[in-house]
Amino acid sequence: MRNATLASWTRLVCLCTWAAAPVLVSAATPTKAQLRAGAATSNITPWLGEPVVGGWRALPAKHVHDELHARCLVLDDGTTRLAIVVADNLGIPREVLDEAKRQVHEHTGLPTDHMLMSAVHTHSATPCRVTRRPEHPAVLSEYSRFLARRIADGVRRAINNLEPARIAWGSASVPGQVFNRRWLMKPGTHVPNPFGGTDQAKMNPGHRRPGLLKPAGPVDPEVCFLSLQAADGRPIALLANYSLHYVGNTGRQTISADYFAAFADRIQQLLGADRLSPPFVGILSNGTSGDVNNINYAAPPERRRPYEKIRLVADEVAQAVLAAHKTLTHRDQVSLDIRQRELTLAVRKPTPEQLAKAREMLAHPEWPDKLPHQRTYARRIVSLHKAPATLAVLVQAVRIGELGIATCPFETFAEMGLDLKAKSPLKPTFTISFANGSYGYLPTPRQHLLGGYETWLGTSRVETEASTKITTALLEMFAEMKP
Ligand SMILES: [Zn+2]
Repeated sequence: MRNATLASWTRLVCLCTWAAAPVLVSAATPTKAQLRAGAATSNITPWLGEPVVGGWRALPAKHVHDELHARCLVLDDGTTRLAIVVADNLGIPREVLDEAKRQVHEHTGLPTDHMLMSAVHTHSATPCRVTRRPEHPAVLSEYSRFLARRIADGVRRAINNLEPARIAWGSASVPGQVFNRRWLMKPGTHVPNPFGGTDQAKMNPGHRRPGLLKPAGPVDPEVCFLSLQAADGRPIALLANYSLHYVGNTGRQTISADYFAAFADRIQQLLGADRLSPPFVGILSNGTSGDVNNINYAAPPERRRPYEKIRLVADEVAQAVLAAHKTLTHRDQVSLDIRQRELTLAVRKPTPEQLAKAREMLAHPEWPDKLPHQRTYARRIVSLHKAPATLAVLVQAVRIGELGIATCPFETFAEMGLDLKAKSPLKPTFTISFANGSYGYLPTPRQHLLGGYETWLGTSRVETEASTKITTALLEMFAEMKP
């Protein structure tokens, strides 16, 4: 309905149950449609016994601390409808999200390229396994099928909940909870990697170690957020974005959505949005946090009970959002745009020497690791050698009024997110990582040169220039849709 030319006084009747009396619109003034928004959550908690991922060893889940959810938001400006999903998982394979999108499209007609689906990256979830065989369709595990269907249900229910809405966005800063976890070590410090070489950067190097020089990269302290209210001011949803990998210190073999869910719960409380109908949906998406965690290695270690720090960080981020939220004026019209591209990236391959060494290691199960995680990376090297030469990944750009959202299907580094924020024509812009797939770490070319866990062959699976190619594609899409 947006920009429609009306020949005469026209009676517009809104189909939504939240609509007031029919509205008279003058032909003399250009018309813009009322924004509509709907939100819903789907419970996606796995059953006990599934392995809890996120560490070096995946042990079966024995307990659930807090339920996992797919948090779904649908916006409609009268011309364009789009859906944003943030699900409590470590990282969801593209095939699972493609299946969820297919189901939403089948039931609602929403185009699959108008859906942004992501994971929060809680380290206390269970994996979404997908079996891939050349020339065959991917086979989803029982949990992956369940997850796809629950995500699709959530989007369909968010569409059912669409109603006239008002929107505002803003940003706040929470600098005290983000630390670059990659440290440059002093010259002469030996930092071995699994391949027999020496790195300059070390992940999680330990507190106040003598070899610590300085963090190897920046952090992004910004919390961007979108707020949706019903016409009468009732909160519908709040979608925030912060660049913190996760907090952790959850219970052993326990499922939890980490601080992402604690934020959703806290912001609901702070906004006075408990027990609404339809229920308010708080959402915290993961920004560019591949190299950023919650641990300050320049200070002594903290001693805290499980979940204590999760609640503390969630509260601080929610309080910062609330303070900024109080200064906002919501508006009832906004234009929407969403675009996506499929990029073909080269898969990194081992050298013949690396491959021969890895095979030799694997042929001798009795050999102990002489280098850090040597056997694990021997397996990863053989797996990369067998992998297809290229990987097709989706990247999306979303415009909501003057605000931009970039997506990246990797564990994205803070410096890439800051670069996108600085160069995007849309202000503010933020990036949702682990979106539309999940393919491991994405160091920038500069960080690749420094080495360290995130850059290791097998942790990082795509070409070292991939972050530059993705940034270029995202900025081109933002430029195309600048209002
Ligand atoms: Zn992680």
